[in-house]
Amino acid sequence: MIITSQRKIEEILKNLQNIKKVFLVGCGECSTTCKSGGEPEVLEVKAKLEQQGKIVTGYVIPDAPCISAQIKTALAKNAKALKEAEAILVMACGLGVQSVKSNDRRELPIFPGCDTLFMGAVDNEGTFQELCSACGECILDLTGGICPVTRCSKGLLNGPCGGMNKGKCEVDKDKDCAWVLIYDELKKKGKIGLFNKIQSAKKYSKTTRPKKLVLEKT
Ligand code: SF4
Ligand code: SF4
Repeated sequence: MIITSQRKIEEILKNLQNIKKVFLVGCGECSTTCKSGGEPEVLEVKAKLEQQGKIVTGYVIPDAPCISAQIKTALAKNAKALKEAEAILVMACGLGVQSVKSNDRRELPIFPGCDTLFMGAVDNEGTFQELCSACGECILDLTGGICPVTRCSKGLLNGPCGGMNKGKCEVDKDKDCAWVLIYDELKKKGKIGLFNKIQSAKKYSKTTRPKKLVLEKT
């Protein structure tokens, strides 16, 4: 899931200062879960914009699986409302904002209504945790399913570092050291031999941006 947080209305209004009519796009998947761009948040922003004298010509909240896969159809279905709009406010991740831009035939100004934070998962208490940095060369099979690239504050491939103290991280004392978690997990699974294996440096050529994947035709 892509984790986003909603921008403050003042920030949104700053971008829309010379714009009267705006169309809103939310997200029925990740931003709904993050409460940054689901229907309640879109309606709340709509009401706040209208209070400030803006005209919201319409809104759409594409469903799962992802805004990028649904946006073309969603925009086509809202052609009339889009025709009246002077700009589009997208309450979704950066991928959503750029997908709207690629599919908006009128080439309207497009503004983000959210900030995109990280790829993560949500736990039972509603806390979002960053778990993967999309490094392009996964080593979870060697680290007991715990990602050191993301969960170690220094992204160390071999650890723990000398700053670890009683299982906690020297960078953030409230945080468990990822490498202690990895050690405990490998020990529990009878795979401690993997812990003693030195991991070689990652191929950073795999992280060259922008990344791209072309599926083979079957
Ligand atoms: S090693 Fe970590 S950052 Fe890399 S792909 Fe696996 S989980 Fe993601
Ligand atoms: S204490 Fe552990 S998690 Fe923190 S930087 Fe060192 S190895 Fe990484």
